[in-house]
Amino acid sequence: MADQQREGGCQCGAVRYRITGEPMMAALCHCSMCRRAHAAPTVAWAMFQEGQVSFMTDRLAHYASSPDAKRGFCPVCGTQICFTASFIPGLIDITIGSLDQPETMPPALHYWESRRLPWMQFADGLPRHPELPPFG
Ligand SMILES: [Zn+2]
Ligand SMILES: [Zn+2]
Repeated sequence: MADQQREGGCQCGAVRYRITGEPMMAALCHCSMCRRAHAAPTVAWAMFQEGQVSFMTDRLAHYASSPDAKRGFCPVCGTQICFTASFIPGLIDITIGSLDQPETMPPALHYWESRRLPWMQFADGLPRHPELPPFG
């Protein structure tokens, strides 16, 4: 359904967003930057065109985790919400874990598999890319 809508937000509710349509990609990232930013062994992301995502609150804060990339988070409760970068112009990654119904957006692949923690094992049989997958 091209016009399906989903909502999500942070733990405290200060950041809320709505997404229209399906993601270009949903994936698990094992990179060290996501790991540190989220303090979690791996992070599930769904990638959208920026126009598909609208924020219903204006509380989002950003941290430039590298010169090319910004991570959006709630300044009240700290939940990581989104990722944008100059190398993915016009696109936005949303944390699947911040969706109200994350079970509706299963990851289809793993990326930065070369950085996966050895004790973080998955039995899903999904494709694994050693670094970034091809976008689009
Ligand atoms: Zn919050
Ligand atoms: Zn990552």
